[in-house]
Amino acid sequence: MKSTVLVLNCGSSTLKYALVERSSGETRAKGLVERIGESEVPDHEAALRTAFDRLADDGVDLHDGALVAVGHRAVHGGRKFVEPTLVTDELIETMRELEPLAPLHNPPGVLGMEVARRLLPKLPHVAVFDTAFFHDLPVAAATYAIDAEIAEKWHIRRYGFHGQSHEYVSQQAAAFVGRPYDAVRQIVLHLGNGASASAIDGGRPVDTSMGLTPMEGLVMGTRSGDIDPGVLGYLHRTAGLSVEEIDTLLNRRSGMLGVGGAVDFREIHSRIDSGDGHAELAYRIYLHRLRKYIGAYLAVLGGADVISFTAGVGENDARLRADALSGLSALGIELDGELNVSDSRYTRRISTESSAVTVLVVPTDEELAIARACAAVVG
Ligand code: ADP
Repeated sequence: MKSTVLVLNCGSSTLKYALVERSSGETRAKGLVERIGESEVPDHEAALRTAFDRLADDGVDLHDGALVAVGHRAVHGGRKFVEPTLVTDELIETMRELEPLAPLHNPPGVLGMEVARRLLPKLPHVAVFDTAFFHDLPVAAATYAIDAEIAEKWHIRRYGFHGQSHEYVSQQAAAFVGRPYDAVRQIVLHLGNGASASAIDGGRPVDTSMGLTPMEGLVMGTRSGDIDPGVLGYLHRTAGLSVEEIDTLLNRRSGMLGVGGAVDFREIHSRIDSGDGHAELAYRIYLHRLRKYIGAYLAVLGGADVISFTAGVGENDARLRADALSGLSALGIELDGELNVSDSRYTRRISTESSAVTVLVVPTDEELAIARACAAVVG
């Protein structure tokens, strides 16, 4: 019997799960439980039981001895957690202390760990942190230019997120172009509902667009990304918004939704095509920001060998990829129009043969990355 790892990724209203075979990395089953908190799935325990029932329907018996560990996606590890770590009462306690750093993301993750430990008490549970890959960012990239004592006291630094994806995709990309990981300068564009970019120099991340929280950087589905910090005080003083209201505005009512009226890029394109100026403006802001980051990271790296697009938007939206990289031939970036629109599910090149920078689409697999990290811990 082949040993497997169960990967759980708990959000506030969704639970993603996957059962990954440890040696081959093959995903045996995966799924998504949505609308946690609504009548059919009232809480995270119900969500996990639903996932277990669905796995059972798929012929998976979680108690047949094949399952060797449970890997949990943990978003914010703060300064404390860098390596994948066994989930203990102490870890959960510390994760609670980190909640102010990631109020939207850490609480559901912790809840998922607690429920899963209760339902699968005999197995080792491992937390794999989104921030870990970026832990050793160069200090100049990790440090905000604010009062040093305050930053130190409150652990304010740039942590970075989507670490599993940036690491996995950059490794896949290096393997695809047939070069050693430590010899390639890469830019990874993780464009999903949340979006982040990273600059990776010889396997070492040297910058990333998300910061203390997953709000900084690129324009996202519902998040603003970069914004003048002056806007926050202005909204508070002038519009009378509370801190919570400002948080909600920037996290949930901004980005593509706030400007363009829709989160999903399929919807954005169809609105643009029917003449919707709001959707068009949102798209243009998104592209402008993305292109600025690409330019910035080319400068940070002193030129790139590979640029990879990944996640829901990056993997599927050929039009966006073409618009993001148009007119950059002076920087050595030339997209092949035909390759760009081919819809393969595998890693593929979309730049021309002669493009100095190789542009790839690399399907991300955060669950597999978590399973591997977790397997390394439990041996
Ligand atoms: P999450 O951050 O929730 O994991 P995903 O990486 O799954 O997000 O990305 C989801 C987003 O991907 C959707 O909101 C949508 O904008 C985009 N997307 C998915 N499929 C397509 C497609 N065929 N064309 C354009 N965009 C797509």
